[in-house]
Amino acid sequence: MSAAAEALLERHPRDWPRWFEEHGGRAYQGRIARRQVFQRGLLDWEAMTDLPLALRRRLQGEAPLLRSRVEAVHEAPDGAVKALLAFPGGARVEAVAMPGTAGRTLCLSTQVGCPVRCPFCASGLEGLERNLSAGEILEQALQLRRLQGPFQRVVVMGMGDAGFNLEATLRALEAILDPEGFGLGARRVTLSTVAPRGVLERLAAWGRPVQVALSLHAPDDELRQRLVPGVRKRGLEETLEEADRLFRASGREYTVEYVLLGGINDAPAQARRLAALLRGRRLHVNLIPWNPVAGLGYRRPARQAQETFARILREAGLSVTLRRSLGREAEAACGQLRRRLARGPEAV
Ligand code: SF4
Repeated sequence: MSAAAEALLERHPRDWPRWFEEHGGRAYQGRIARRQVFQRGLLDWEAMTDLPLALRRRLQGEAPLLRSRVEAVHEAPDGAVKALLAFPGGARVEAVAMPGTAGRTLCLSTQVGCPVRCPFCASGLEGLERNLSAGEILEQALQLRRLQGPFQRVVVMGMGDAGFNLEATLRALEAILDPEGFGLGARRVTLSTVAPRGVLERLAAWGRPVQVALSLHAPDDELRQRLVPGVRKRGLEETLEEADRLFRASGREYTVEYVLLGGINDAPAQARRLAALLRGRRLHVNLIPWNPVAGLGYRRPARQAQETFARILREAGLSVTLRRSLGREAEAACGQLRRRLARGPEAV
């Protein structure tokens, strides 16, 4: 039973009754378990007293719901809490819970490491270790809720790029959106990607109007190829045209994510170039001052340079947010906590 039982979180919430039938239980027990897990937050079979004792004991021994254990938790002064989860086999991923005026937001990872290898990012330094399964992505939300309580938003912006592990990511999001799962509205879910070819078309075909955040980071192809090497063969114009088609299909404006790196992509001339590229499109620009990662050789731009960049875009008629980086004080950059713990406390 155990190999198949381990896959319970891999199943769409509507399939939980069938899973129970396939594993010696009854369909109604699957509905009970689903309610206990997603609505009540119970993650321990023993605590599900609505289920028969013998079944609970069997599942507890053979099919624990969660496969990860929380290896470390860091809390920043601003309230952002980052958890490092260790899965059997040694894979470690980070997941973050961030407080905000509109409630708590969870930031989930989709891969162990990242194949895109952006040189300014801790997650991409060692490339891709492996993809996460849908259940492993979903499990991060369950672990964070257990640690921090209910959440109102989910952003898929942690380690890895959702576009390089899209089908597993979409299955996890199905459980987050489904009324039998977490039941979050599509407007409360954001999927971030550098948009390898075909990903935005697949999102349009998927048909769930989640928010899409397009990681651009550069105003021209030459610089983007250096900063986002994983999509080297893809031009900005082609990428934006695909995003525009997604907007026409979903009716949902997309977000352009742009990490500001001092002396690399934050000059006024680059802001004007970016404005020319984006002007007239239905999007919002999110400027993210770089979170320092020791040893990477980049710097966070001065506040004045950040504001000048934002002002130039706004003067071109674009909607712009200059983001305050939550959790900057405590290992906030993605991949940083995992990297430090993998190498020992002196590594970062
Ligand atoms: S910034 Fe995002 S896409 Fe780039 S290496 Fe880091 S996790 Fe991957």
